[in-house]
Amino acid sequence: RQHMARGLPNQKPIAGVKRVIVVASGKGGVGKSTTAVNLALGLMANDPNLSVGLLDADVFGPSVPKLMNLKGNPELTENNLMRPLVNFGVPCMSMGFLVEDTAPIVWRGLMVMSAIEKLLRQVDWGRLDYLVVDMPPGTGDVQLSITQNVPIAGAVIVSTPQDIALLDARRGAEMFRKVKVPVLGLVQNMSVFQCPKCSHQTHIFGADGARELAHTLGVEVLGDIPLHLNIRETSDAGRPVVVSSPDSPEAEAYKKIAASV
Ligand code: ADP
Repeated sequence: RQHMARGLPNQKPIAGVKRVIVVASGKGGVGKSTTAVNLALGLMANDPNLSVGLLDADVFGPSVPKLMNLKGNPELTENNLMRPLVNFGVPCMSMGFLVEDTAPIVWRGLMVMSAIEKLLRQVDWGRLDYLVVDMPPGTGDVQLSITQNVPIAGAVIVSTPQDIALLDARRGAEMFRKVKVPVLGLVQNMSVFQCPKCSHQTHIFGADGARELAHTLGVEVLGDIPLHLNIRETSDAGRPVVVSSPDSPEAEAYKKIAASV
C-alpha cells in the first residue's frame, strides 16, 4: 500500500500494447466474460483497422477458451514468449491454454501470482491498439496486483441490476479509484427479458439498479445488455453474438459499449 501512494513505480506497459481496458465485476456470474469477449469483437466490428487482443486473467475460471472456441498450447517465439491463439481475428491468451481443465484448484492457488505475471509479461502480442482484460471477479490480491503492475486506460464494470451484485460492483469501482484507474463506466447486464412469444418485457433482476449506482458513483452507464437466449447460446457455442449475429439488437448493444471505450 505504501508504494501505491508513491505513484505506482512498478507499473510497466505491456510491450506493443497501446490501451489496456479491464472488464471487471464484483461477483461471478453477472456476464463479465461475455461482455469482455463481445467488447473486444465489438471494437473490431466498429473499426476493422483496429488490432484488439484478449487476455483472460481469470486464472481460476478461465472462460475465453470456450467463448472464443480455442484450445491448445501456445507456441513459444525465439524470445521465449508465448504466441497467443487466434480466432475471429483476435489474439487471445488464457490460463486455460496452459493447464488442463482438471488441474487441481489448490495448485492454481499456489501458482496464481506467477501465472498472472506470465500472462502479463511473457506473451508476444505484436502490436495492439487495445488489449481487453477479462479480470477475475471480485476485488482480491490478483486484481490489485494487475492494476499495480500495468498502466490501465480504463475499467468497465459489469453488474446485473440486482442489489447484491451492485454492492459488489461498488466495491470494485472503489478499488479502481484507489489505484487511480479511471472507471469508464458500468454495463448493466441482463437488465430486461423480452418474451420471444409475446414481446412482453420483464425486469427479472430489477429495472434500473446499475443506473442508480452509476449516478451515486458519478460514472456513466455505458450500455444495457438484455437477458437474451441468443447471447447465452452463441456464447456456449463459441461463436460470440457480435460475430454470429452482427446485426441483432444484442450485438448492437455490445458495439455501442465498444464505441464508448
Ligand atoms: P462472469 O464472467 O461474470 O462469471 P459469464 O460471462 O461467464 O459471467 O456469464 C455467465 C452465464 O450467463 C453464461 O452462461 C453466459 O452465457 C450467460 N449470460 C451472460 N450475459 C447474458 C445475457 N445478457 N443474456 C443471456 N445470457 C447471458
